[in-house]
Amino acid sequence: MSRFVYVNGQYVPYADAGIHAEDRGFQFGDAVYEVCEVKGGRLVDETRHMERLARSLRELKIAEPMSEGAWTRVLRETIRRNRLRDGSLYLQVSRGVHRRDFFFPPAGTPPTVVCIARNASPAKAEATAAKGIGIKSVPDNRWARCDIKTVMLLPASMAKEAARTDGANDAWFVDAKGFVTEGASANAWIVDKEGRLITRQIDNVILRGVTRTTLIDHLRREGIELVERPFTIAEAKAAREAFITSATSIVMPVVTIDGVTVGNGAPGLLSLKLRAAFHSAAEIAAV
Ligand code: PLP
Repeated sequence: MSRFVYVNGQYVPYADAGIHAEDRGFQFGDAVYEVCEVKGGRLVDETRHMERLARSLRELKIAEPMSEGAWTRVLRETIRRNRLRDGSLYLQVSRGVHRRDFFFPPAGTPPTVVCIARNASPAKAEATAAKGIGIKSVPDNRWARCDIKTVMLLPASMAKEAARTDGANDAWFVDAKGFVTEGASANAWIVDKEGRLITRQIDNVILRGVTRTTLIDHLRREGIELVERPFTIAEAKAAREAFITSATSIVMPVVTIDGVTVGNGAPGLLSLKLRAAFHSAAEIAAV
């Protein structure tokens, strides 16, 4: 549990942390966010997460709320005040507060900035990875700029809730042609019958996951072949292995898709190997 939340320049006790009723993030979903893993009190892949945050802000023409150095201090201070060891930091930047209007507020309106610490149990995550997770596929009904990490997460929330109702753990979005775009909050990967690793190429319909990028660095270093192309949900069900990647799940094996067993029903060997190797390829911040 976060004890102190950073809100617009102050570290506020969790119960008192609030934003204005006319915040653009609250009224329009006019905000972007990042989730950065914290391991042993250190940020994982901070540079890539902060680069992506800067890109999301640029794409939506939201002003950068603070310098790189100030961000560095806020992230570390949030970890320190919450005595966070293992978990994640959630950062959100909205276009700020203004009387409700579809047009953007005047230039100079300060963005709203929030940073929340959240702890997670590494043992619990390992237990989940040892079993693998079940996926439900749902139609991808999101907008055409999923490359921007915005807080407009209602389709993802509804997809995950539908998955839970069906007894699955998470959801994959599938486009009108039957191709998997990505997970509700993760990138989607398969290993085909020939042992080839496949994940969708980067375009506007998926988020360029930081975990995905770092894993690709690792694959290149190890000489593991990767094919970046769309794959269908039918291919995924017939695959030898499947997994998802995200900052909170790292590499998480998938063992069922829509109730169909993937491979032999156990987490795949390559998936588990990549999970174990991930942090050796990631940037682990000095404290
Ligand atoms: N795709 C979507 C839609 C996501 O929401 C996320 C993470 O939240 C990802 C992919 C994975 O991104 P990352 O590896 O940077 O956590």
